[in-house]
Amino acid sequence: MTTAHRTCPICDAVCGLKIDLDPAGRVTKVRGDADDPFSKGYICPKGASLGRLDEDPDRLRHPMIREGDQWREASWDEAFEAVDRGLTGVIEKHGRDAVAVFFGNPTYHTMAGFMYRMPLTQSLNTRNTYSSGTIDHMPKHVACGHLYGDPFAIAVPDVDRTDFLLVIGANPMESHGSLCAAPDFPRRLRELRERGGKLVVIDPRRTRTAAIADEHLPVRPGTDPFLLLAVVNTLLTENLAKVTLDVNGLDELRELAAEFTPAVAESVCGVPAEDIARLARELAAAPTAAVYSRMGGSVVEFGTLTQWLVDVVNILTGNLDRPGGTMFTKTAALEVFRSGEPFQAGRWKSRVRGLPEALGELPTATLADEIETPGEGQVRALVAIAANPVLAAPNGPRLERAFEDLEFMVCVDPYLNETTRRAHVILPPPRMLQMPHYDFLLQIVTVRNYTRFSPAILPLEPDQRSEAEILARLTLIAAGAGASADPAGLDETVLGQLVGAATQIPGSPYQGRDPAEVRAELDGDSGPELMLDIMLKLGPYGLSLARLRENPHGIDLGPLEPRLKELLCTPSGRVELTPPPIVEDLGRLRAKLSAPTPELVLIGRRQLRSNNSWLHNVPSLLGGSNRCTLHVNPADVAKYGLGEQAIVRSATGEVIVAVEPTDSIRPGVVSIPHGWGHKGSEQRVAAQNPGVNANALTDELVVDVPSGNAVFNGVPVTVSPYEP
Ligand code: SF4
Repeated sequence: MTTAHRTCPICDAVCGLKIDLDPAGRVTKVRGDADDPFSKGYICPKGASLGRLDEDPDRLRHPMIREGDQWREASWDEAFEAVDRGLTGVIEKHGRDAVAVFFGNPTYHTMAGFMYRMPLTQSLNTRNTYSSGTIDHMPKHVACGHLYGDPFAIAVPDVDRTDFLLVIGANPMESHGSLCAAPDFPRRLRELRERGGKLVVIDPRRTRTAAIADEHLPVRPGTDPFLLLAVVNTLLTENLAKVTLDVNGLDELRELAAEFTPAVAESVCGVPAEDIARLARELAAAPTAAVYSRMGGSVVEFGTLTQWLVDVVNILTGNLDRPGGTMFTKTAALEVFRSGEPFQAGRWKSRVRGLPEALGELPTATLADEIETPGEGQVRALVAIAANPVLAAPNGPRLERAFEDLEFMVCVDPYLNETTRRAHVILPPPRMLQMPHYDFLLQIVTVRNYTRFSPAILPLEPDQRSEAEILARLTLIAAGAGASADPAGLDETVLGQLVGAATQIPGSPYQGRDPAEVRAELDGDSGPELMLDIMLKLGPYGLSLARLRENPHGIDLGPLEPRLKELLCTPSGRVELTPPPIVEDLGRLRAKLSAPTPELVLIGRRQLRSNNSWLHNVPSLLGGSNRCTLHVNPADVAKYGLGEQAIVRSATGEVIVAVEPTDSIRPGVVSIPHGWGHKGSEQRVAAQNPGVNANALTDELVVDVPSGNAVFNGVPVTVSPYEP
């Protein structure tokens, strides 16, 4: 038996794991790594199932090529040649914008997913770049981009030091934190209470987080910006604000918030005005406080406004960028994703609906339009990497139909699932334990400065290809270099750019040195590892891959420290409290005040044993609370005469789903978890527990306007009893 140490790659919490393997390389046990200074031995049921997930017999082992309705195994060379023919054919016939690329959520969790994203996007040179970002967190990027100039300046709650944590539309007891990496969130919340702190949760559901909170305010879905504006209103009218940062727009903010009194907010949110005003006063009075919001305040009609207001409240209470408030993590690797240039969104618009670009991406909500609508620039081919948008995107069934019409589609994915079955070629990456691991992106949202590298635990089999090689070869094909171009050549090009820049950066340890000499000193067994090595050496702690290897449990780099001044890159050099694109969107919010309130709306829900659709093929993660049911308040069960099953209808579709009455959800709201609806998948366990696709009900035509983000929460629906 051998024991290996590795970061869990499943969710944002980045827990350290201790993995026992038998001589055949099979995982026999997974425990939390007690020596990891950040996660300290914590593990959740998903992490404990990593071995089963990794060894899933339904994972594809060979490239697959589809001929008509039939799939057959292919060699890597044959598969890449088919990709070359497919992509090159579409580019030659229709131009580069005719190829779309979609990066799914797992690409944020792998080294290669991060490292090759930019080279692949640049090689494709298409305006049709999409990702799970616009069905998740794009509103946060857009809000922070406008406030601070840097869309990656995302402040995390300093949960270990705060005196008051206000959680809006997030459920870290089950999600374990998202855009906020805090392994063992339950312990951290417990400790907050034990040191006399207060936890308040605003959520339409009494989630597990709400259940342990000091106070739960059950809000109507999607109305958080009204509540937060009323908090701003109270802070400013009662002179409770204590702004400590250099800001522009405080007077304009005061004027904008004037009409959104707590009484106005109550009429929309359903939260009593006196509770909203009291909340504002408590936030202002707390020695330190942090407001944190995730999916419930992001995948909503006013996601950007909500995320903007979260930071505005943190700024007004003097809590942004200070211990105990919300703070910016300082990553170990050079932050190559920060451009240093002021953020701009909408540099181009989508062809059909004119939706804005953000971070170089178009909204996923318009991908089907771009495929279906004829004309110059129509999408005719798709490269999908670790993505299952048929289940994850709004109006997934429409997207599935659109995929059928593509001239070519290639997926990098370990499964034959609801999306990849529409592809012409599937390129399967190896198992997780066969890949080195480093969290480039998640380490920008850890609640302590921390870093950890995990080498591959198991070698590749001769007939496997690393994820890095797969993505590098796709990049070379997209660049017109053909199917047989050497991926090492791409790595050297990228390394050459990094090394070249390093020798020019003033103050860099390599300034003025010979690039060839610097390149020769780099350490690593693969392109991504070599790139990581130089990024660590150029990072603020002067680390290296060798140092990380010497510390297999990770390195604690200390508590978060104020660093906004370093990140701020607005043209004015000040925090912009009232950026014009945000102020403009307030008009849309104002119009809601006179709009009718839907009688019943749909929201999603996070489940402890699930994350996204790819976790539904592991028997140990199914059952218990991890069931795809419709949560309905008993009052609504009676009101609509529901029995065991219900038909839920929306503007886009309908599903028949099992009813689970529960008083944990407020009346007027029903909930279906996301990622279900397994149909036509070769994932046998998932196929036996298919659930329903909540995204058959979500409407791709409704988006958060500034970010183009999809709206999954607050979808108007009707329910009626279903008798089979
Ligand atoms: S909380 Fe997330 S990172 Fe930690 S063990 Fe569970 S799935 Fe893995």
